[in-house]
Amino acid sequence: MSVGSLFLISAPSGAGKTSLVDALIKAANDSKGDKLCVSVSHTTRQVRPGEIDGTNYHFISSQTFIQMIEKDDFLEHAEVFGNFYGTSKAWVNEHLQQGWNVILEIDWQGAAQVKQIMPEAISIFILPPSLETLRARLTSRGQDDSAVIEKRMAEAVSELSHYPQADHLLINDNFDLAQTGLMDIIHGCYKPSAKEKVALDTLLQSLLP
Ligand code: 5GP
Repeated sequence: MSVGSLFLISAPSGAGKTSLVDALIKAANDSKGDKLCVSVSHTTRQVRPGEIDGTNYHFISSQTFIQMIEKDDFLEHAEVFGNFYGTSKAWVNEHLQQGWNVILEIDWQGAAQVKQIMPEAISIFILPPSLETLRARLTSRGQDDSAVIEKRMAEAVSELSHYPQADHLLINDNFDLAQTGLMDIIHGCYKPSAKEKVALDTLLQSLLP
């Protein structure tokens, strides 16, 4: 059995990363032969409405998080906007050894750490089609007041500035196209068209000051 590959998917909040990954995992499960899974991270942040412990995250205390760092349990860990997040080293290694392609949904700091120790890992950055779309998506969640949305926008722009570190950039404008692009990257056959490349250049110029 061959060892699986590791994919690092980063994106600013509101770019639609989690929905895309969920759709990919569902498609892989439906097609049976595709061994694709996503790691559930550990975090010290508060549970949001609708989130389930063990499904969205393993929600743990700061004390437990520190103990896990001391035991070298994390493949990578980082502080992201005031909360701590980490990926279980044992879980990832076990699944890679069993031939699973493993997705990590992590921020740019975590992706950089993993790239240092596993340069063969493939990093992907998901971009929103525009800052206006990002703001609209954050607003339509209806979870946050305007001050929180402005804070999340600032955080998103900060996360966006790290896109040059990624091996692949994907725009999540059309969900189906983005999903196909992501699947093609995972299958090693992604070839953006000339039109997509132009769209990407134009977008990158408009996204960041
Ligand atoms: P949220 O709290 O909104 O779910 O995620 C906030 C940020 O933390 C996102 O950028 C997400 O990708 C990142 N994140 C989630 N899990 C991990 C992890 O295990 N490691 C790192 N480095 N970042 C993570």
